[in-house]
Amino acid sequence: MSYDLIVIGSGPGGYPAAIRASQLGFKVAIVEKESLGGICLNWGCIPTKALLKSAQVYEYMKHSADYGINATGVMADFNAVIKRSRGVADKMSKGVQFLMRKNKIDVIMGYGKVAGKGKVEVTAQDGSVKIVETKYIVLATGGRSRELPNLKQDGKKVIGYREAMVLPTQPKSMIIVGSGAIGVEFAYVYNSMGTKVTIVEFMPRIVPVEDEDVSKELEKQYKKQGIEIMTNASVEAVETSGAGVKAMVKKADGSTVVLEADIVLSAVGVVSNIENLGLEQHNIKTDKGKIVTDKYQQTSLPSVYAIGDCTPGQALAHVAAKEGINAAEHMAYLEKKHKHLPEPLDYNNIPGCTYCTPEISSVGYTEKAAKDAGFDVKIGKFPFVASGKASAAGNTDGFVKVIYDAKYGELLGCHMIGTNVTEMIAEVVVARKLETTAHEILNAVHPHPTMSEGFKEATAAAYGEAIDI
Ligand SMILES: Cc1cc2nc3c(=O)[nH]c(=O)nc-3n(C[C@H](O)[C@H](O)[C@H](O)COP(=O)(O)OP(=O)(O)OC[C@H]3O[C@@H](n4cnc5c(N)ncnc54)[C@H](O)[C@@H]3O)c2cc1C
Repeated sequence: MSYDLIVIGSGPGGYPAAIRASQLGFKVAIVEKESLGGICLNWGCIPTKALLKSAQVYEYMKHSADYGINATGVMADFNAVIKRSRGVADKMSKGVQFLMRKNKIDVIMGYGKVAGKGKVEVTAQDGSVKIVETKYIVLATGGRSRELPNLKQDGKKVIGYREAMVLPTQPKSMIIVGSGAIGVEFAYVYNSMGTKVTIVEFMPRIVPVEDEDVSKELEKQYKKQGIEIMTNASVEAVETSGAGVKAMVKKADGSTVVLEADIVLSAVGVVSNIENLGLEQHNIKTDKGKIVTDKYQQTSLPSVYAIGDCTPGQALAHVAAKEGINAAEHMAYLEKKHKHLPEPLDYNNIPGCTYCTPEISSVGYTEKAAKDAGFDVKIGKFPFVASGKASAAGNTDGFVKVIYDAKYGELLGCHMIGTNVTEMIAEVVVARKLETTAHEILNAVHPHPTMSEGFKEATAAAYGEAIDI
């Protein structure tokens, strides 16, 4: 059997690429070495959101009296929480299986690599090897947990995100190294369930890619929740020979403290899966551990495309998905199966969401980045304490912060922290995509009472027109 396209990797990049190509008339196969749906559905976005929901329900129940509801005997069943999360992930993976059948995409289980122009070598689990022919290849092999040399993961006491999702028992204490999205999401989950959590962050503030005001607010809220935070600190070594783990942590002033915990979770980012894919043999260029592509995802070998976490750009599922669709549309355009070229991604208009409590969402320039880029900025901030919806819901923490260019009114960036803000950022993405100015936001009537009014009110605040603050 020969194909028009073989996609290697079935994550949120690979499976949409396969489906879009099939929709455009290609005969497609997808090669997967593990589980359909990739990291996102099996070990990333989805199971973590299930764990976060359980933690949040537990928090609500513990504080139900605040809402006039008396609940007694509220207890978290750690194993049931883990089981629910795995069930959600399995269901999503089966959903991808269904989509493959629906779109007549052949699923080939095994390890795929480029074996030459138009050739993919697949090694099945039983060790058998076959060559499958194809005109195009999409590399969508994703990434894995980054390991620091002084923080080697043993999968038991020093763990990565996979193990953190399926621990057999709830640890009494946990040190989380790194405070990006993965680190702070797990911090919320474990702290809510009763684990003593300490975050160790190398940078001067937690969630360091976010706007500084957001970092400050999350730190304030996390400390209120009982999470310990050490910034400007790095784990120099870990000692696992005793009952738990001892972590030698170097502080900003150069002194070292020894922290003890049951588990250390290393959440210091991801590295791309680019090894043993036949890249060097076939002159597919890489740079800084990522596969290099042009704006249509084509690699230096034009019949081979690469998308998602194995390429540069934000390591996010929605980025991978759009890159996959663009790759499929580009090859279809070359084959005259699609009328126009896809629109390349604008990496400056990618929303980022972190699903801790309070949630974080952002898009575009931070205040510092806008100023560093030379913009004269107008800043507006709306605190949720002034929102009727937030008050009614009992969730008044956080704010919406907007950054406009003072000269032309361009919406440069938006940064939110608070309940449900991950559902609010898409409006800002669309507004920026349509080059909307503050004037148009202020004239677009927002429903009341909603958290989304916060975006309009923050915009009004930037122009001295706020009503509710
Ligand atoms: C804990 C965690 C939480 C996250 N939460 C979010 C979130 O809330 N929102 C968000 O946008 N992003 C989130 N991410 C990031 C997101 O999961 C990734 O950006 C996304 O999965 C990347 O998609 P991908 O298709 O590039 O690769 P992946 O999802 O990594 O999929 C790659 C697939 O390729 C397979 N594969 C690799 N090599 C081969 C080979 N040689 N042959 C065959 N198969 C191969 C792998 O088994 C895997 O199934 C999270 C990540 C983690 C770890």
